[in-house]
Amino acid sequence: MTPARHAELAANLVVVRRTIADACDAAGRDPGEVTLVAVTKTFGEPDLRALAALGVTDLGENRANEFTRKAEAAADLDVTWHFVGQLQSNKARPVARYADVVHSVDRQSLVAALAKARAGAERPLRCLVQVALSDDASRAGGTVQRGGVVPDQVEQVADLVAEAEGLELAGVMAVAPLGTDPDRAFAELAGVAERIRAVYTDATWVSAGMSDDLESAIRHGATHVRVGRALLGTRAVAG
Ligand SMILES: *Cc1c(COP(=O)(O)O)cnc(C)c1O
Repeated sequence: MTPARHAELAANLVVVRRTIADACDAAGRDPGEVTLVAVTKTFGEPDLRALAALGVTDLGENRANEFTRKAEAAADLDVTWHFVGQLQSNKARPVARYADVVHSVDRQSLVAALAKARAGAERPLRCLVQVALSDDASRAGGTVQRGGVVPDQVEQVADLVAEAEGLELAGVMAVAPLGTDPDRAFAELAGVAERIRAVYTDATWVSAGMSDDLESAIRHGATHVRVGRALLGTRAVAG
């Protein structure tokens, strides 16, 4: 870690924290309600360690192999580990071994694979059901982009998570569809979150908002924002 990189991360963190605080202020919310998850995909272990030393308590990754490798290498950090990407069932075991939270539970078979992997563990694996928000194409009758469970099936998947041994239903997650107004997308998510919370009162987490739309997400009740580029800079590789 060069001093320049350390200073860059520190400065970015100040800006992101201020953005979150201002968005909370504007929404009449307590900034203590919003957890910053630093999405460190494609960046190396020194950056993870530097962020943790700067006070970041939550780290996220979106690829199973990369997640497992980094979480193992940095297992000594006192952080909460989040897995936020699409997850193949055959990677459920290594992810469930290192993750505290999986944001991207998007189908029945994955619930079963995660439950099997986590059975008998000391602590349950917190799970968020990923919701597929409608975009302009899906509103026009096309298919939904960017993964997740369609809103009217979220409760079904939530029920499975809630019943599964080793898993704990923490709430819902979404990625705003590309090219669609994030306010409209996150308002839709807020409605789904409320429906789930009406049944499962402890499922209070709403994971929404990334570098470009976290203010909108906070306006619509996000409890967890997943921020990559605004903290770490532009990624060299797509992800
Ligand atoms: C990469 C990623 C993020 C962070 O995106 P940025 O635009 O870099 O802030 C958030 N959520 C998921 C699921 C991601 O894959």
